Amino acid sequence: MKTIQLKAGKERSLQRRHPWIFESAIAQGSADAGETVRVASHDGTFLGWAAFSPSSKIRARVWSFTESECIDAPFLVAACARSVAARDRFNINSDSRRLVHGESDGLPGLIVDQYGDTLVAQFLSSGAERWKDVLADALLTATGLTKLYERSDASGRKLEGLPEVTGWLRGTGPTELVLQEHDWKLRVNIATGHKTGFYLDQRDSRNLFAQTTRRLKFERVLNCFCYTGGFTVAALTGGAAHVTSIDSSGPALETAAANVALNGFEASRATFMDADVNASLRKFAAEGRTFDAIILDPPKFAPTISHAERAARAYKDINRLAFKLLAPGGVLFTYSCSGGVSADLFHKIVASAGIDAQVDGYITERMGGAPDHPMTINFPEGEYLKGLVVMRK
Ligand code: SAH
Repeated sequence: MKTIQLKAGKERSLQRRHPWIFESAIAQGSADAGETVRVASHDGTFLGWAAFSPSSKIRARVWSFTESECIDAPFLVAACARSVAARDRFNINSDSRRLVHGESDGLPGLIVDQYGDTLVAQFLSSGAERWKDVLADALLTATGLTKLYERSDASGRKLEGLPEVTGWLRGTGPTELVLQEHDWKLRVNIATGHKTGFYLDQRDSRNLFAQTTRRLKFERVLNCFCYTGGFTVAALTGGAAHVTSIDSSGPALETAAANVALNGFEASRATFMDADVNASLRKFAAEGRTFDAIILDPPKFAPTISHAERAARAYKDINRLAFKLLAPGGVLFTYSCSGGVSADLFHKIVASAGIDAQVDGYITERMGGAPDHPMTINFPEGEYLKGLVVMRK
């Protein structure tokens, strides 16, 4: 067994059970891609068993902090089974859910979503890649399913020096599916959709939006960055008279329109705009349009903390513009899925957007990812999605 030895003082984060070992923390030692290494402190004390990633800045990711553990097929089978079993204890109102959320589930670099009877997996680290076959079989055993589609085309693969891979890994079947969540159904394309096909992490925010629409009787809703129209359908389910939805992806908008029809709503209640959100918000302001509720769910502006400053400006800009379009008493549902923007920073950004727009509001909810996208107490990076619901005074 190969060992990697850390520099003095670099053992602390592992002792706190944080699973990442950065290149800069390593004094000596190397291994093949995905190979299991023994991680030791500068004085040789055992710290963990980790998968080595020769070309990533995150040079190794810990599988286990227990010295007596052996990283083998039974270990990974048990980890997959635990992760799947945890989902049954979470409160998930959908036939589609995240079964494995990487580091938070003790399986660094592995993302697995279930859409009905089909699993979609991303193998994003050298360790997950090396154990792919064992993991694929373990996931099917844990769920009793037979179909697994691989979507290893996320940008993280490049950082690990791994090529893009997509296609059926186990079984075969349709790649266009329909998922059910809360009170609606949504079309998903697992081969061409974003991530594994859909943003399951916003499930409970979509439900909150439907409920708030019903309670406050929103008439005119604006859904910015609508993707395939999840919030649009939620708004219509809640009784909104009309929803304007904006996205810059043509195929996503086509699916969004199909999702409106799929749920039995008249096409006249929804307008879809293939446009840039920032420019559209400015145009609406110039036209003097207002909305009772606005959703801002942009893509990741700051993947890491080094992008935080530029991202902060972009978040502030759209939030300022959205505040200006809110009717008095209207409600803004605003989100950031940037790992590099903390909940605290996001609150500050929204606050300064409000000041610039001369709008004050009550924060009525703080939102995070749905429970099947968990964070654990030792891995704060697990908190990437945060949202604020702001009711204009
Ligand atoms: N709210 C959605 C997820 C949004 S993902 C849901 O609940 O499913 C972010 C979306 O923003 C993507 O669909 C992407 O196509 C879109 N997008 C990215 N940049 C954009 C821009 N400048 N203007 C409009 N849409 C944009």
